[in-house]
Amino acid sequence: MSVTATAQRAFNFSAGPAALPLTVLQQVQEEFLCLPGAGASLLELSHRGKPFVSIMEDAEATLRSLLGVSDDYAVLFLQGGAALQFSMIPANLLRGTEMTGQYLLTGSWGKKAIVEARKEGNIEAIYDAKDSNYDHVPRPGDYQVRDDAAYLYYCSNETIQGVQYPTEPDCPDSIPLISDASSDFLCRPLPIDKYGLIYACAQKNAGPAGVTVVVVRRDLLERGSESLPGYLQYRNHEAGGSMWNTPPTFAIYVLGKVARWLADDIGGLEAMEKQNREKAQVLYDTIDANSGFYQGHAKPECRSLMNVTFTLPNDELQTQFVDEAAQHSMVSLKGHRSVGGIRASIYNAMPREGVETLANFMKDFAAKNG
Ligand SMILES: *Cc1c(COP(=O)(O)O)cnc(C)c1O
Repeated sequence: MSVTATAQRAFNFSAGPAALPLTVLQQVQEEFLCLPGAGASLLELSHRGKPFVSIMEDAEATLRSLLGVSDDYAVLFLQGGAALQFSMIPANLLRGTEMTGQYLLTGSWGKKAIVEARKEGNIEAIYDAKDSNYDHVPRPGDYQVRDDAAYLYYCSNETIQGVQYPTEPDCPDSIPLISDASSDFLCRPLPIDKYGLIYACAQKNAGPAGVTVVVVRRDLLERGSESLPGYLQYRNHEAGGSMWNTPPTFAIYVLGKVARWLADDIGGLEAMEKQNREKAQVLYDTIDANSGFYQGHAKPECRSLMNVTFTLPNDELQTQFVDEAAQHSMVSLKGHRSVGGIRASIYNAMPREGVETLANFMKDFAAKNG
């Protein structure tokens, strides 16, 4: 990357597609015109040729080792974003059965998922945090999972509200636990064995838009009805090694580089979690120290490590905050239209310096306008 382009890069607080590690972008740029040894750009290469096959194998192996994924699970690289999983999960696990899929609703993405799931079979929301405007997650005992549920579904980090489960919700061992981890995948270690299926679109924390990672316990692959469209059938993707049709090669390539960056440069997910906790703490401490001016949205015990959401005393100040921050090279701080306020997305690739710059700006802004 040229010096000028690098110097022009702002601290990017976008919720997604979101910041990627600079070193990953630089490697992609270096290899863009000609993938070393391949004689062509990755964009021009067959997905079945050796160079791409080894890139995809390496991406899968790195993810498996970062997360400790055993061979009981398949790792799939799919298209259609997180949104297609809203449908694929119930299509595979529910369609044509009398079973019920149960949902915990703690924000906007869970609500979207349940709308799609209802088209596939019996669905129940067994917890819904709407009365407190989605500012918290359930405690054990707040909901009851049926013994014969097809699965229990939740969203580990509600990107729009900035509400994250500190650990997995309670779920009986016999019921597959399913998580939409789109916006906190790879932010911390995960006990994969607790899950039946966990998925994440890449464009928040794991890579560019275009690929969705699905980690699914292999026994669940048997459940999909024969009448499903081929693309929607998980086991087709498993059998074809994510090559049932042409996979999104470029997105998988970049995702593989992000995974390598996590393993080699960061030192794994425990080290990443430590950095993420420190970064988030800087912002939450700033909110709490200026609590007459900034109001955090999430309850303290479930504040997100990835999306820090807060409001200012009024809309004018919020607009002014976003505009002035942009003048100081901090972009995409406007909250989601459905919640308002400010959202600072501080995914893995956000350097600590970006968070400190924002915290200092917040202190100055509150002092001037409070
Ligand atoms: C962004 C996001 C989605 C939607 O992802 P698409 O790839 O646009 O379908 C779903 N769930 C969560 C938690 C998200 O952050």
